[in-house]
Amino acid sequence: MTDIQRSIDILEALVGFDTTSRNSNLPLIAWIESYLDRLGIAHERIPDATGAKTNVWATIGPAATPGYILSGHTDVVPTDGQSWSSDPFRLTRRDGRLFGRGAADMKGFLACCLAAVPDMAARRLVRPIHLAISYDEEVGCIGVRDLIARLRAAPVKPLGCFVGEPTLMGVVTGHKSKRSLRVSVHGRTCHSALAPQGVNAVEYAARLIVKIREIADRLAREGPRDPLYDVPYTTGHTGLVNGGTALNIVPDLCVFEFEFRAIAADDVDALVDEVVRYSAETLEPEMKAVAPQARITFEEKSGFPGLETPAADDLVALAKKLAGASHHAKVAFGTEGGLFAAAGIPSVVIGPGSIDQAHKADEFVAISELEKCGGFIDRLVAHCASAGS
Ligand SMILES: [Zn+2]
Repeated sequence: MTDIQRSIDILEALVGFDTTSRNSNLPLIAWIESYLDRLGIAHERIPDATGAKTNVWATIGPAATPGYILSGHTDVVPTDGQSWSSDPFRLTRRDGRLFGRGAADMKGFLACCLAAVPDMAARRLVRPIHLAISYDEEVGCIGVRDLIARLRAAPVKPLGCFVGEPTLMGVVTGHKSKRSLRVSVHGRTCHSALAPQGVNAVEYAARLIVKIREIADRLAREGPRDPLYDVPYTTGHTGLVNGGTALNIVPDLCVFEFEFRAIAADDVDALVDEVVRYSAETLEPEMKAVAPQARITFEEKSGFPGLETPAADDLVALAKKLAGASHHAKVAFGTEGGLFAAAGIPSVVIGPGSIDQAHKADEFVAISELEKCGGFIDRLVAHCASAGS
């Protein structure tokens, strides 16, 4: 059985590394590698192009047999501008809670996984357990993509993946897909007294933003529903607009960013296409009639596929058994699970702590949550040590 103090000690070490996504994660990775080295566990880096960040993949047990992945990201969101009661990069215990950036999202889960490795190594596992430790999840699930590409090419496909994002150890089978784009509307400037001779970029951006809102309203009114979500339909919105310099100048540039978050019944790409088509077929011809160089360009910002693991999937049944849960849910936030699933690896999201604490000041994970997660992993280890499927 996993000792809770070992999980807490490891969490203390992990939180001590400032792995905000803009920083290198190599010092934290080196710590994990030396920990695995002491236990005789082989590991492999899958680095980014610059060498400043890396994923780590480790296997405990027979690598040539299908097994289970425990997946977690090492990066955390910034603490800039947040008011913390204690140093966010020093794990601090108060009232049965452990405070620190990443305590819930999601170093707590990584700590529980790593704390269980000695037991995994001591048991004779029939099915392997893999650790998939990634970077740059918080900036668009970037890092894990190369790791998953490796899995796609591997001769043995894992049976499933548990993504340890904070769900209060609830079994989560789905999340929405997402695409976000940056739009640059290029018009033609002139003195505002001569406004019809210019192409007002802010006004054309406004028309496109209204189009996005109309699509969102249509989805809210008559789009398909999935009652397992808090917002049971696909959403879209514009979150940022920049344009113009002075009222007496017709603006020649307006930049804005929008997103769609789609339930499985909607195609997020088709929604983006609808926006792009309106831009190309309705707005650009009007703009070009005044100024041929006027145009609207779209740049991909980030996105990830949705997760939609069928309730009847073996992995969902296993997750429920290991967690002692009778039901499952879907969540509003995205995870790496959609990418694993898209590679043909069934995935379930389950991890300690609450998403309500993630990304905020005084982020914490309750010690009782780490205990529950430790129990879940202990039962997974027992499952992988027995001959059952
Ligand atoms: Zn996370």
